[in-house]
Parts: sequence; C-alpha cells; structure tokens
Amino acid sequence: MSLICRDLRVEYEVRGKTVTALDGISFHLEAGEFISLIGPSGCGKTTMLRTIAGFLKPSRGSIEFTPNGGSGGGGRLIVYQEDSLFPWMTVLDNAAFGLEMKGVPRGARRQAAAEMLERHGLQGREDCYPYQLSAGMKQRVAVIRAFLSDPALLLMDEPFGSLDSPTRFALQEDLLDLWGRSLKPVVFVTHDVDEAIYLSDRVLVLSEGPGRVVDEAAVTLPREGRRDSILSEEFLRLKSRIMRVLAREGPHSKQKENHAA
Ligand code: ADP
Ligand code: MG
Repeated sequence: MSLICRDLRVEYEVRGKTVTALDGISFHLEAGEFISLIGPSGCGKTTMLRTIAGFLKPSRGSIEFTPNGGSGGGGRLIVYQEDSLFPWMTVLDNAAFGLEMKGVPRGARRQAAAEMLERHGLQGREDCYPYQLSAGMKQRVAVIRAFLSDPALLLMDEPFGSLDSPTRFALQEDLLDLWGRSLKPVVFVTHDVDEAIYLSDRVLVLSEGPGRVVDEAAVTLPREGRRDSILSEEFLRLKSRIMRVLAREGPHSKQKENHAA
C-alpha cells in the first residue's frame, strides 16, 4: 500500500459560493505506517479523510493510492466518532460485517468475530444491540469491525473524541494492539496532542482552514513501553513543538498577524 497526496485543493460549493476547505496539502503514507492529522476545528480534517476515501474529488492536485495487500478489496474504510455501527444488528453481526461483505461463510466469520470480541473484553455482549452498549464499547466494536474488514487503508475520524479519558486510554490500547498485529496503514484524525503522539509514527499538523500541512513531526519513541514514555523528555519535546505550531497556526492566527503588523 502507498498513498501519495500532492498539492491537494478541495472545495465545496455553498449556494453558488466556493469554500476552500483544504489547499496545498502534500504528504505520503507508507505500508505499515500510522500517521495522525491534528489541527483546529474546521481546518479540513474530515474533508481530508473523505477525499482520501474517494468521496470527494480534489479540484487541484492528485492522490495516488496503490492498495496492494489487505483482503478487503483494496478499499479504504472510515471509522467515525460515533454511530458507525448498524443499530439493527447485534454486536457479533456488526463485528463480522466486513467478513460477510467479503463472502466469508457464516460459521467462520462468526467465530473470527467472537474471538476478537473476547480478546477485547466484549465476551457476553455478542447478542446485544448497539443501544445496549456504553459509548466506549460501541467504539471498541467499530474498531474491531474495521480491522476484521481488512481494508487496504484505515481512516479514523476522531474515533475516541467523545469518550472520557479512562475509556479513551483503554481504546487506544485496543487500537494499538490491533494495529501492531496487522500493521494496517492508518490515517488517524484527532484534536488531542497526547493521543496523536502516543499512537503515531508521524504527526501532521494542519493550519486553520483552508488547511495546509504546517509541520510534520516524526515520533521516534520506541513502540514498546510507549505509555511509560509520556513524561520522557522526547515526548514532552514533541508535545511542546506541536502545541507551539498549533498556537501559531490555530484559530484566529490571521487576526494575531494583523495585531502584530
Ligand atoms: P474539520 O473536520 O477539521 O473540523 P471539515 O473538513 O469538517 O473540518 O470542514 C472544513 C471546512 O469545510 C469548514 O469550513 C466547513 O465549514 C466546510 N465544509 C465541510 N463540509 C462541508 C459541506 N458538506 N459543504 C460545505 N462546506 C463544508
Ligand atoms: Mg471533522
């Protein structure tokens, strides 16, 4: 798998007016890589994921996506902040949905889904419907379903954004466990700096909209024991670097420039 975005511009038409959501975006993603996009609200993060997924067409620039690998038909799959699950399906059927789409026989897909649910502490919940689960459990099932679907590329749009921090930490562990076993390439959108550093190989910082990539920080902390490194010098150095860029490029940066001028 490889993904190369070159000089992308993405625009929306709103009542005859053109709104530029992203402009001059360039980055690449290699097989097995986990990258995060972080940036102020409205800077175009969701637009970026929808463009990579092929739902939106850039008005300038190009996206080169070479699937290679993943048995999910070379697809790109988005996990949303909430409500990714089908409300009329049980937890087990939701988790197995991607396998069903691939034509895996009922017995085999139910077994694979049940094993995965058990690994992630959801045993006994297989026959529940999504409305019977906590928000954290729902997102856990959505993440499990995404990995079981085995797409070529996984796109995650603030999947833990509405969870309390203990639940968020637990979900981050689930995600890293699933990612470590599959090395599925992931583009993860978050507005949480710690989360971006903790999960990623690289963090791309976007400016206020129309979003541009204003910084790209490689996370060189070892994967093993990364949770223990959040107070390390390297973690704090990265965090302060990203926070400084966000403060400079974040909301109202243009007014700040005007004041400075
Ligand atoms: P983020 O996910 O970073 O908060 P979005 O990608 O949702 O940002 O939005 C980027 C910009 O594009 C915003 O100015 C938003 O108002 C605009 N936008 C998003 N979706 C649409 C749409 N469907 N039609 C028109 N404008 C949109
Ligand atoms: Mg968004």
